[in-house]
Amino acid sequence: MVRCKLCQRNPPNPNGLCNECMDEIGVVEMPPARRRAGPCLKCNGFKFVRVIPREYTVKSHRDMNLAEVAPMTLTQQPVVTERLMREGNTVDAPRVVLGEGMLETYTCMSCGYIEWYCEDPSEIPIGPEYMSELVDYSPDAPYR
Ligand SMILES: [Zn+2]
Ligand SMILES: [Zn+2]
Repeated sequence: MVRCKLCQRNPPNPNGLCNECMDEIGVVEMPPARRRAGPCLKCNGFKFVRVIPREYTVKSHRDMNLAEVAPMTLTQQPVVTERLMREGNTVDAPRVVLGEGMLETYTCMSCGYIEWYCEDPSEIPIGPEYMSELVDYSPDAPYR
């Protein structure tokens, strides 16, 4: 039986890792490559290492600290919880696991130049709580 390449216990996904290990180390299946085939913008090199960078943080939970690891994203959802029996919501810091707009990098193996891409640009939430705004330079856009 084929087993996860890390824990050697559970059945793996196509990437060779089981769901439990993927959650633990903040890994997701790599989406299709975003960058178009072509040479490095700086040195015309043809070989790259494609990496989805991850963010690492620690979340305190009662008496212990829990590691949180997730793919790096452009922005994160704030944690908004309705207050019980009282008016309004409680607002907490975003969590790295609630990110939107997963990032993807290509590092040129000749010169080390790094190109960044966003895996799902149309899914990036827009608003002051995300520190994002839409910039539209198309000729018929209302604001230019
Ligand atoms: Zn595993
Ligand atoms: Zn290069």
